[in-house]
Amino acid sequence: MSLKQNTLKGLSLPELSSLFLEMGEPRYRARQVFNWMYNHRVTDFSEMQNTPKSFREKMKEQYGLLALSLDKKIESIDGATVKFLFRTNQDHVIESVIIPESDRVTLCVSTQVGCPLDCKFCATGLMGYKANLTAGEIFDQYLLGGREYPKPITNIVYMGMGEPLLNYEATVKSLSIFSEELTKEVSLRKITVSTSGIPAKIYELADTGLRVKLAFSLHSCYEEIRSRIMPINKKYPLAKNLEAVTYFLEQTGGRVTFEYVMLSGINDRREDEEALVALCRKIPAKINIIPFNSLAHINPTGIAAELKPSSPERIATFAGKLRKAGITVMVRNTKGQDIAAACGQLAVTQI
Ligand code: SAH
Ligand code: SF4
Repeated sequence: MSLKQNTLKGLSLPELSSLFLEMGEPRYRARQVFNWMYNHRVTDFSEMQNTPKSFREKMKEQYGLLALSLDKKIESIDGATVKFLFRTNQDHVIESVIIPESDRVTLCVSTQVGCPLDCKFCATGLMGYKANLTAGEIFDQYLLGGREYPKPITNIVYMGMGEPLLNYEATVKSLSIFSEELTKEVSLRKITVSTSGIPAKIYELADTGLRVKLAFSLHSCYEEIRSRIMPINKKYPLAKNLEAVTYFLEQTGGRVTFEYVMLSGINDRREDEEALVALCRKIPAKINIIPFNSLAHINPTGIAAELKPSSPERIATFAGKLRKAGITVMVRNTKGQDIAAACGQLAVTQI
């Protein structure tokens, strides 16, 4: 399907209001179109039944309603995890994943094509930065992905390709669409934005008043080790990020999720357990332990080639120590590995 360059998808309610007021439409038109587009998921103006025919025809000449087209849908062997490849109208291919877990259905969305931050354990990082997604392209992953899945999406994580806080404007705009009382299906409390740490943007996000949850990709409590595996730490050190995370929690309440990819001999040592316990005494947090998904399928070089996953036994002991200290720990399932849909494997190889 070819996409129109000019799409309404991604416009917020205030933006739709000013567009329609300029066109001489009545005040209520923005709410109608917003409702059709974001709740009823219509992809053609002709379906907007409570709007005049002349309006629908005029709109159709100038605008499209889709920001993405579905290129491919790949299901895991057990059929539960689904990966989508979507094409943007710049002809980039991005990925989203739906992962069911007990009574939740979580959608993982991308915010950039590739990523400039070059974390050594991440497939997206190794692919480099290609482009930012628009708010419409972020939101369409939810609308189009949701349409292809038999159960409703209950949670959204901004943890696909890219660093959301380096595409701050589009990320926040997509969140503001979810925050409207007109969009009922997923509330902001069920949305988590994950970042490798851009302190100024963490402060800014806290000040928007959008009450999303924050996940911080910690991966090591030591500046030097973190810098080695996450080069962005040299520019924005952990200490500055933790101040920003603390501010975020003061504004929004709740706890931060520290993401922690388990790398053998690098961040899974006894002293790492102790440092994590000390950190969680200072900052209200849960820890999300992520088994490292190997990047062998994309032939990494340098430090990336040396990274090894911690053994399942080491992960269990590590998690046990943290739990004993009273910390909430989740050990993430590596669901979807057979379709390279698990975390950090989101790099499109066929483009
Ligand atoms: N850029 C953001 C969000 C996308 S990455 C961020 O870094 O937080 C989402 C999560 O996947 C991050 O916690 C990231 O560290 C983790 N991840 C990246 N590569 C991984 C890999 N190979 N195995 C397991 N988790 C990985
Ligand atoms: Fe970018 Fe996140 Fe991957 Fe780091 S882990 S390269 S920030 S997508």
